[in-house]
Amino acid sequence: GLRQGWEILSSGGTPMDAVELCANVIEVDPDDSSVGYGGLPNALGVVQLDASCMDGRTYAAGGVASLEGIKTPASIARLVMEHTDHVLMVGPGAQQLALDFGYGLEDLMTERSRQSWLRWRERLSETDDYGPPEHLAGRRSGDGLGGLLEGPEDFHYGTTNVLAVAANGDISGITTTSGLSWKVPGRVGDSPIIGAGLYVDNSVGAAGATGRGEDVIKSCASYFIVMRMREGRTPQEACEDAIDMIVDRYRAIGNDFVPGEKFVAINKAGEFGCSSMPSGRNARMTVRHGGGLEIYEGSTRG
Ligand code: ASP
Repeated sequence: GLRQGWEILSSGGTPMDAVELCANVIEVDPDDSSVGYGGLPNALGVVQLDASCMDGRTYAAGGVASLEGIKTPASIARLVMEHTDHVLMVGPGAQQLALDFGYGLEDLMTERSRQSWLRWRERLSETDDYGPPEHLAGRRSGDGLGGLLEGPEDFHYGTTNVLAVAANGDISGITTTSGLSWKVPGRVGDSPIIGAGLYVDNSVGAAGATGRGEDVIKSCASYFIVMRMREGRTPQEACEDAIDMIVDRYRAIGNDFVPGEKFVAINKAGEFGCSSMPSGRNARMTVRHGGGLEIYEGSTRG
C-alpha cells in the first residue's frame, strides 16, 4: 500500500488520493482480519466497518460507521466528505450513499473470518447450545464430558491508520477498521470519529489511533496529539503524552487496566512517531519517505 501511495505522491498526486489508495489495498486484502473484507465480524457474525478521512488543508472530513456490505469504507468516508455537507454517516444511510455511487454489496466474510467467529461462538459459554462437536457429544450422552470448553476466543484489535505529507505541505489521513472483534452489534469505535481515531491539520501534522476505541474517544486522543505537536512536542513525544494521559487516568482511580492503545503521528516537517501500551501489540509503524521504506520502532509505555 505504501509503495503505491508513494507513487501517487511522487508523481504530484494529492495526499488524499495517496492515503485512500493505501487504505484500499489493505481493506480488500482477505488475509487481513482487522479491516474491510475479511475483517472479524460482530457478535452476530456481521461485519460492520468504521472509517474516517480528513484533509488538513481545508479541515474537510468524513466518516462512516457500522457500514455493512462494502469492502472499502475509507472510500465511502471520502464520499461523505466530498459529496455531502455532513461529517458522519452510519449504517443503512452510509450504505445507501455507497450504492448511489455505484458500489455493489458484497459478502465481507472470508472462510477464515467465518471460522474464527464460529469458534468464538462455540467457546463463548458452557450454558448455551453452541459448542464444538466433542462438547455437544458429551452433553448428549450424559457422560459428563460437557463443559470441556476452553475460554472464549480472545478479542482481536486492529486498525489501519494512513497519514501522508506531500511535498507542498498538504497533509491528509485515513483511519479504517472492522472494529473490535465480536463487538456488540451497532457498537461504534473511535475510527470514524474525527478527533478520536484521526485528526489532521496542515499547520501542524496528523495523528491516528488504534486499540480500544472507547478510551480513544473519551480522550479525544488524535486531536490531543495534534495539539501537543502544535505546542512544540515531537510526534514521538506527543504520542507518548496521549498514552500517559490515558494510563494516568486509570491509575488515578486505582485501576490497573491498560486498554491497549497505539498512536501514530507525523508533523508537517515529515517527522514521525509511534507509541503503544504493552498489551502484546507492537509499537511499530511502517514509513515511506525519501530515504525508502522503513519499519520504525516507537516506544511502549503504560
Ligand atoms: N480502535 C478500533 C475500535 O475500537 C479497534 C482497533 O483499533 O483495534 O473500533
